[in-house]
Amino acid sequence: MAKLLVPPHILSRILNHARSESPLECCGLLGGHRTTSDWHVKSLHLLINELASPTRYRSEPASLLKALKAVRLAGEEVVAIYHSHPTSDPVPSLVDRDWHWADDVVDLIIGLAGSTPQYRAWLLNPWPAHEVLVEEWSGFRGDVGQASHFQADLKIRDAGEDQIDAHKRANYPQA
Ligand SMILES: [Zn+2]
Repeated sequence: MAKLLVPPHILSRILNHARSESPLECCGLLGGHRTTSDWHVKSLHLLINELASPTRYRSEPASLLKALKAVRLAGEEVVAIYHSHPTSDPVPSLVDRDWHWADDVVDLIIGLAGSTPQYRAWLLNPWPAHEVLVEEWSGFRGDVGQASHFQADLKIRDAGEDQIDAHKRANYPQA
């Protein structure tokens, strides 16, 4: 089964992002590298949900452009898009299917319906979606070859938080 490998500190930041935006949906982009079977997440980019909706998301173009530039500058590619389901399970909807990014980019969904956040990852085409295993990736400690490269790279380049705050101040000043 294909795997989405996510460093634990990035995973916890994603869950925090989902919780902080609740009851609205959050969205973001994950950069990294793909191997023949797995997706390795190396960077986190928070995006603005310009719909500010509890059931829909659409990436605000400026935040998306900034994230895509950062991914490209780091020599990475987009490996996953994430969004939250504030009141339902982390299972893709028909809307998610129709709006998915690309066939080989993983959709990671965070479900906040239960007492603890749940997350599941999917490839949405062909439909019905099939699941991708999410595994915490603690790095390649002690390993040979790419180890030092990966270790050095394992830091969050999570632009986006300032942007989201500024967007909120401009659009929802009373919030
Ligand atoms: Zn969804």
